[in-house]
Amino acid sequence: MAADKQSILIIYTGGTIGMREDPKTKTLSPMKFELIQEEIPELYKLGFGIESITFTPPIDSANMTPAIWIQIAKTIKTYYSKYDGFVILHGTDTMAYTASALSYMLENLDKPVIMTGSQLPIGVLRTDGKENIITAIQIAAAKKDGKAVVPEVCIYFSSNLFRGNRTTKEDSQQFSAFTSHHYPPLATAGVDIKYNYEKINYPRSKGILNINTSIDENVIVIKIFPGLNRKYFESILTLEGLKGIVLESYGSGNMPTFPWVFEAIRKATDLGMIFMNVSQCPGGNVKMGYYETSRELKEAGVVSGKDITVEAGITKLMFLLGQNLPVSEVKAYLLQNLSGELEN
Ligand code: ASP
Repeated sequence: MAADKQSILIIYTGGTIGMREDPKTKTLSPMKFELIQEEIPELYKLGFGIESITFTPPIDSANMTPAIWIQIAKTIKTYYSKYDGFVILHGTDTMAYTASALSYMLENLDKPVIMTGSQLPIGVLRTDGKENIITAIQIAAAKKDGKAVVPEVCIYFSSNLFRGNRTTKEDSQQFSAFTSHHYPPLATAGVDIKYNYEKINYPRSKGILNINTSIDENVIVIKIFPGLNRKYFESILTLEGLKGIVLESYGSGNMPTFPWVFEAIRKATDLGMIFMNVSQCPGGNVKMGYYETSRELKEAGVVSGKDITVEAGITKLMFLLGQNLPVSEVKAYLLQNLSGELEN
């Protein structure tokens, strides 16, 4: 590989982009990366040094686990000095969760980690996978004054480059599968790729990449709805080992004001349970205390998730609980911006 040629490592974890239809069962399942490469001869025209690693077996991202997040983080760490950027091929279903988790786990990141995938497999004539993978590679290789243009964990999909921990999968049918309600795209790809430089996070200090792989899975998401059953709610909150709960509340962070709801929450917080209030509303912000229906939550020690997504919220909780910090510190960090996942 010529010394001045950008080098990119593709980490193929699975997803529709690399799937093929089984002629017998008619279901889609992942194939090997070599077969994907055969479908995109254009990759060689990019002029970059492109190498790949395939996770075995490649999976449908519905089967994603924190153990695989750790495997991805370790792979990036192992090959960090050898490549200018990383492209992760991943199923769309849980891509926003993986992107969020990686954004916390990769500390001092100063190279691009661009996740992408597709809605139609790469071998299908109308696939969106080719444009997605080619542009993701170009973004991962982009440099200005010798430095990476986007040294963040991002999702590139259907002309938009989003900060990964701000994304949500919003469509399983359209090619534009992802959106970012609270943060503008870091780049848009039309005839040219236009970068939104002021919105991109650049590392403040120069440090070596550190991967923090401590994740605690003793968490759960509870979506609030009219008719929430008292018995079920109370029994979830007393489950043995459970340490953190994302409450998916209404609107600007509201919950029913039935006394049993607050009593159950207060009892649990007294025993060290951590609650994070994340809104079911894709837009807007959690403002605890704005309405009567959220004032008591604040008093009971529930932490505002502000404008965080559920994906970034639950992974942040898993990450912070993994650090073995006192409850008060976990709560303090939940309110802070760790890697661009919420407004300050
Ligand atoms: N079920 C697939 C996956 O997440 C969907 C996709 O890739 O778009 O792996």
